[in-house]
Amino acid sequence: MARYTDAVCKLCRREGMKLFLKGERCLSPKCAIERRPYPPGEHGQRRTGRRKVSDYGMQLREKQKVRRMYGVLERQFRRYFQEASRRKGRTGETLLILLERRLDNVVYRLGFADSRAQARQLVRHGHFEVNGTKTDIPSYLVKPGDVIRVRERSRSRTYFKERAQLLEGRAVPEWLQLRPAEMSGTVLAEPSRQDIQIPVNEQLIVEYYSR
Ligand code: SF4
Repeated sequence: MARYTDAVCKLCRREGMKLFLKGERCLSPKCAIERRPYPPGEHGQRRTGRRKVSDYGMQLREKQKVRRMYGVLERQFRRYFQEASRRKGRTGETLLILLERRLDNVVYRLGFADSRAQARQLVRHGHFEVNGTKTDIPSYLVKPGDVIRVRERSRSRTYFKERAQLLEGRAVPEWLQLRPAEMSGTVLAEPSRQDIQIPVNEQLIVEYYSR
């Protein structure tokens, strides 16, 4: 499967905001945005604050931010958009809700991983089950009532043993419920736009694809 292999911090610097792609490091002074708050590349520093951004440029950047935050490639992201436009309600909000319901995102939100990329890898390696069935598809869309659990055989791994301690007292979004002792979480409801605390204007993404 195709995937982005260059340094991910460049993506944050390109978008001019933290996309939280590297877990703990994102919250430390080592974060590349803290140290080099300008776009990557030879002319990155010169570009800062000098260019007037067109409407198209703003729409493109907003789309790229969200796509990169959730670690989804262009073709798949477009499919999410098409699916969102078919559904009732505001397309931009529905798009974010679909992305938020991805299994890798839920594993990340529950705190089983420090980043969505790490969560995706853990899911792919078969460490999780949904409603008792092994599920190794990161794009699986969870729904209210689903129970996501670390599989029995994976719990003895050092990674998950250490994780279990970190999960005690961890706050999770209101639409999820975490049970650290059982290494599991339940989807209580579909997320709403208010639950998705990311600073993006999803309407610009709708405009991007409606050109
Ligand atoms: Fe982005 Fe995290 Fe890298 Fe900072 S450390 S630039 S937030 S991926």
